[in-house]
Amino acid sequence: MDATSPKLAAPSAETIDRLVAVVGEKYAVRDAQEMENYVTEWRDRWPGRASLVLRPGSTQEVSEILKIANETQTGVVPQSGNTGAVGGQVPSPSGNEIVVSLERMNKILRVEALDNTIAVEAGCILQSVQEAAEEVDRLFPLRIGSQGSCQIGGNLGTNAGGIATLAYGNARDLALGLEVVMADGRIWNGMNRLRKNNTGYDLRDIFIGSEGTLGIITGAVLKLYPNPRDRAVALVGISAPEPALELLALAQGKTGNGVVGFEIFPHYGMEIVERHTELRNPLGSYFPWYVIVEIAGGAAPGDLMPVLTSILEEAFEADLISDAALASSEAQYQMFWSMRERMSEVQKFEGGSIKLDTSVPVSQVPELIERGLEALKEAVPDARPLPYGHIGDGNIHFNISQPEGADTDAFMARWDELTGIINNIAIDMSGSISAEHGIGQSKTYMMPKVKSPLEMELLLGLKDLFDPNGILNPGKVLPS
Ligand SMILES: Cc1cc2nc3c(=O)[nH]c(=O)nc-3n(C[C@H](O)[C@H](O)[C@H](O)COP(=O)(O)OP(=O)(O)OC[C@H]3O[C@@H](n4cnc5c(N)ncnc54)[C@H](O)[C@@H]3O)c2cc1C
Repeated sequence: MDATSPKLAAPSAETIDRLVAVVGEKYAVRDAQEMENYVTEWRDRWPGRASLVLRPGSTQEVSEILKIANETQTGVVPQSGNTGAVGGQVPSPSGNEIVVSLERMNKILRVEALDNTIAVEAGCILQSVQEAAEEVDRLFPLRIGSQGSCQIGGNLGTNAGGIATLAYGNARDLALGLEVVMADGRIWNGMNRLRKNNTGYDLRDIFIGSEGTLGIITGAVLKLYPNPRDRAVALVGISAPEPALELLALAQGKTGNGVVGFEIFPHYGMEIVERHTELRNPLGSYFPWYVIVEIAGGAAPGDLMPVLTSILEEAFEADLISDAALASSEAQYQMFWSMRERMSEVQKFEGGSIKLDTSVPVSQVPELIERGLEALKEAVPDARPLPYGHIGDGNIHFNISQPEGADTDAFMARWDELTGIINNIAIDMSGSISAEHGIGQSKTYMMPKVKSPLEMELLLGLKDLFDPNGILNPGKVLPS
């Protein structure tokens, strides 16, 4: 789907000069070639063009930029780490919009260990926030494969999930307050540090997950957690998704809230990770499915290895699992998780791949996978499905690699048809077509299908209220 913004024209030369003057020539990119990194995204799926890229250094500068953009009706695409998976962070091919990158606004503002809070600028890289928490022996639990480059503004903009959502929730659950620049340049200071604050409607939650269409997030107060004293991880060979869910229930029953990560991938995932990386299956044999389970907590290092061992032994006795390897060192811990985190990346080397982000109630994941595999077999018998991911949250990335040797362009041309097959199954099961990535420009056309007329009316009304000129991320989330 193409995200065009027909209502908004390109900024005039005079407007461009006014916008550049806000940040200074040094922090503006006018040259099309130099803009390349800001207008293309990692999947190469939504090529865009921009009139200008601006890299403001303060909230005040973001405010000045939006005042001018609103007055001149210039489309603005907010961008953080540019790792988004649905093309929300890149401009349309029209070349009419400007990109506002938050990358220079990367300061940790305040860490309050006793409050368990950290205040940051929106351009902070996620990993820097995790490290700042670690320095005061706290945990910031948002964990995603892109954490070395994605930024807090983008994480909140998309309401990111990841591999620890099971225990700690998604980005929305980890934010206490926000600072946001409105479309007309006014600044909302909502940097709330309170755990409890029921004073009317919650504006924070309206901005989180709005993908840059209602305001630009410039700062956030985030929740920290006590650092678990120990963690234990295992890679498990398993016959099917059903017993995986039984293993999850067993592990949760034995540890209380101790299961922090629980991910699944099929044999095809193991095959391509081994084919394209240095990572190797630590189990003696190969199995139809694999699960990575991580538990955390305990009072001291070493506490949890016996706990996880006894969970796995019980699962083995009950015929739930076929084999398991426990990580016995930090290197092995990293290796197990790398297998999971590199799954999307290695799919690239297998030719064209179609990506999905469906969710259903946790107990219904096996049905989603079974129905999806059956339907795909009928549509593209030789396609190589890769349904993997956050089974503990009911969120499966039902990715599909092209048949070996097939024409990549012809396969990719079937994106809407094949994603439609899986998404329709998820919808039929009262699930979601976007569990954690958002709508961006890739699923905008599906909004009227997944939202009722009443919801659409309210969402369009909100957009109109927050951004009456439609300058913020035009063509994203809601059909224009
Ligand atoms: C290897 C890899 C693994 C990934 N794994 C996961 C995963 O497990 N879970 C998951 O949820 N996602 C995952 N993603 C997708 C992506 O990393 C997340 O969506 C992330 O939250 C995007 O952050 P970003 O800083 O890159 O934002 P961007 O890509 O720059 O922007 C994303 C969206 O947010 C908007 N936005 C950006 N900054 C702001 C701001 N300051 N204010 C308002 N809106 C803003 C943009 O306009 C855009 O719509 C993965 C991506 C990769 C490459």
